[in-house]
Amino acid sequence: MTVPNVTMTHCQREAKCQWCEIMIEASNPLVTVFFWNRGGPEHKGFNVKKYYHPECWVAQGLDYLKMNPYVPYIRKPKLELSKEQSKLRYNILKRKAAIDQRKRRLNGSPDNTMAMALLDTKIAELMIEIAPIGGIPKKWLTPSN
Ligand SMILES: [Zn+2]
Repeated sequence: MTVPNVTMTHCQREAKCQWCEIMIEASNPLVTVFFWNRGGPEHKGFNVKKYYHPECWVAQGLDYLKMNPYVPYIRKPKLELSKEQSKLRYNILKRKAAIDQRKRRLNGSPDNTMAMALLDTKIAELMIEIAPIGGIPKKWLTPSN
């Protein structure tokens, strides 16, 4: 695993810029990127230092971003419910569990098609009830059996 570490200092000794390949002269601002490779049981760790003009560091960063387009990070809505809502939600979850149990008992017999359909209708109603209080649990939407 490589851990990069970036610092900006005054250049003490001339160093070649990784980006434009022009020498960075002493006393000029210098960006040092220090890669620390921890190594592992199979290979020894090693350190790599790379030098950049500050503007070249920015340029290579922007170039990298261009190659790796922006992907929006979608945050999951947090489940923040009042005490009353939590109780309601818990109650709906319990009712759903009871229906699931009944469905499991009916399962397999063709005579029970009608009863199964009725239970599915009840589940659909519970979905409508639970949606505004924390959303429909993912488990409900993926058939379990
Ligand atoms: Zn440069």
